[in-house]
Amino acid sequence: MSFSDAEVERYARHLVLREVGGPGQQRLKAARVLIVGAGGLGAPAALYLAAAGVGQITLVDPDTVALSNLQRQVLYDTADEGRVKVEAAAARLTALNPNTRIAPAATLLTEANARALVAGHDLVLDGTDDFATRFAVNAACVAEGVTLVSGAIGRWTGQVGVFAGRPCYRCLVPEIPPDAETCAVVGVVGALAGVIGSMMALEAIKLITNAGDPLTGRLLIYDALAAEVRTVRIGADPGCPACGAATASTG
Ligand SMILES: [Zn+2]
Repeated sequence: MSFSDAEVERYARHLVLREVGGPGQQRLKAARVLIVGAGGLGAPAALYLAAAGVGQITLVDPDTVALSNLQRQVLYDTADEGRVKVEAAAARLTALNPNTRIAPAATLLTEANARALVAGHDLVLDGTDDFATRFAVNAACVAEGVTLVSGAIGRWTGQVGVFAGRPCYRCLVPEIPPDAETCAVVGVVGALAGVIGSMMALEAIKLITNAGDPLTGRLLIYDALAAEVRTVRIGADPGCPACGAATASTG
């Protein structure tokens, strides 16, 4: 796989980086990334991954653009209100970088279709905000052996984690928390979506190019009000319903 003159110019700031360079940029071009949720987190993640020259981005989201999305979902313009998100996103991302193939899927990821959607991808980013979808994405990633970059935001706090086999996301969140909150109810600062979504893209770029130390098995927690970041290690749960011994032995 070689680069055109235009690609060499487009990716010039990557090509001079020791940790990316030509080989890393080739890996980005060959990469197929699935982004679940084209909302607050998926929007900046998709923009940065398309800009970075990821070869294929599959976007899964069943929603249409609402006016209340525009406070943080930077993929969309005011004129996009009412449009199917993944279609508006595909147009925007293709305009940003025509070298990136965008595969839009205007569908809800469920337990039934998750494995088929995850299969054929090198990496999955999950920026959805409901636990049923998160559990389905995680189970499919465990089953397909695909690394998961997971992000979450609410109010003024965000978190990012990377899961490759064990521990998995379900080791961190075994069951749906009784006090589960959504941004629609409790609110979220728009710029926080930019921070966490961009961190998800950054971890994806590190994983694809083998640069540095990914957040694998760790959770980074950003408290925006306090302007503090901490990183905690995630333990593998032997009784995990997604990756635990019982699950593995029954296939
Ligand atoms: Zn697990």
